Amino acid sequence: MTAQSKSRSLERMEDLVSLCARRGFIFQSSEIYGGINGFWDYGPLGTELKSNLKSLWWQRIVRERADVEGIDSAIIAHPRTWEASGHVEHFSDPMVDCRACKKRFRADQLDDAGSCRDGDDGKHDFTPPRNFNLMLRTHIGASEDAGSIAYLRAETCQPIFNDFKRVREASRQKIPFGIAQIGKAFRNEINPRNFTFRSREFEQAELEYFCHPSERERWFAHWQQERLRFHRDLGFDEEHLRTRPHGADELAHYARAAVDVEFLFPFGWQEIEGVHDRGDWDLSRHGEYSGKDLAITDPETKEHYVPVVIETSVGIDRTCLAILVSAWCEEELEGGDKRLVMRFPGALAPIKAAVLPLSKKLAEPAQRLAQDLRRRFNVFYDDAGNIGRRYRRQDEAGTPFCVTIDFDTADDGRATVRDRDTMGQERVPLEGVAAWVAERVDPGS
Ligand code: ATP
Repeated sequence: MTAQSKSRSLERMEDLVSLCARRGFIFQSSEIYGGINGFWDYGPLGTELKSNLKSLWWQRIVRERADVEGIDSAIIAHPRTWEASGHVEHFSDPMVDCRACKKRFRADQLDDAGSCRDGDDGKHDFTPPRNFNLMLRTHIGASEDAGSIAYLRAETCQPIFNDFKRVREASRQKIPFGIAQIGKAFRNEINPRNFTFRSREFEQAELEYFCHPSERERWFAHWQQERLRFHRDLGFDEEHLRTRPHGADELAHYARAAVDVEFLFPFGWQEIEGVHDRGDWDLSRHGEYSGKDLAITDPETKEHYVPVVIETSVGIDRTCLAILVSAWCEEELEGGDKRLVMRFPGALAPIKAAVLPLSKKLAEPAQRLAQDLRRRFNVFYDDAGNIGRRYRRQDEAGTPFCVTIDFDTADDGRATVRDRDTMGQERVPLEGVAAWVAERVDPGS
């Protein structure tokens, strides 16, 4: 084993953006046409990473709990939904235009506007701020009149409120209980930036937990704890994670309390998740706009009331970005060699094991092992190039284990398993490799 002498975490976002494109984690959408601002494609490694994150969330929030149900709603909801939720009226950011360079900026982010390409002395010539609605509009059906307008959902929670009564009755849940979903959301952000951090199309994983008003504080505290535990399990260390309660002036008009979970990115502390006490605003409004009674009658006390909603809302793309930042580790090894290693926790790693025969002549047992492992994990097979280079490629992809088949394998029935983080090596019987890897990447197995 080679002991590492020095390690460095990510300092410049450009380095991560470049690794993500080169190794196929995440890159610009429609790259061959020059890209499209605020839209990103996930390549083979990124798709696995994101899917592992979503599975972990679903496992914790839905499957491990008897009091939470999962749904998968349509992206387009009845347009009245967005009137009831207040989005048509209020979901806007103040923006200004520069009369010189014609660029548009968020009025609250002018410190980041940089200098003006066309203005005198590089100065922008801003218009007064005006509100810009962030919902992406489309038309349904053949006509394009006002009656056919619909919106791509700006958040995944509103369809949960629409479906509240149906899901509660179908699943025979009683208050308190929650409904969760993961899916795409769309916002016409004025200034998409910081890689995937602020995009126009992104994914959210949201839980709406319905409780009696007298229990709101208890559930608000419970969900904060649960969500922090989740983020710690993603490998974020304490110095990169904090919670920030909203001041009274920051709260949405319907919210009683809100706490942001923030992560320290190279561009500063930023929100990755919000935990909100939304009161009875959502069910009351949708009840009013739909004409349906969304209140509950307590079977014992006969009290008729509108449940309060505690929400946890996490951005999948922002969390993936935080995972990439936190996994990044450049190491200088003894002897002066350098390596970049993505230290993803096993459960999140896009590839769990790479099978590397030392020679192409060993293809047969190596392929057999790879095929066996593939029944349980995402596995990569690589027989090209020297072994050191093959290890480095897997380090960059964040693969926790490399399994090498060598000329002794035929005699002793064992493979060498190399650990990504310690670079330590161990001989493991071929038939035990799958269980050996599973134990380390999937602690529940
Ligand atoms: P911000 O203030 O950064 O715009 P927000 O407070 O509007 O975020 P919410 O509406 O609370 O965000 O959405 C919940 C989560 O959805 C956020 O914590 C974030 O992770 C994610 N999210 C929101 N907007 C975007 C976006 N434009 N791109 C990527 N993720 C986003």
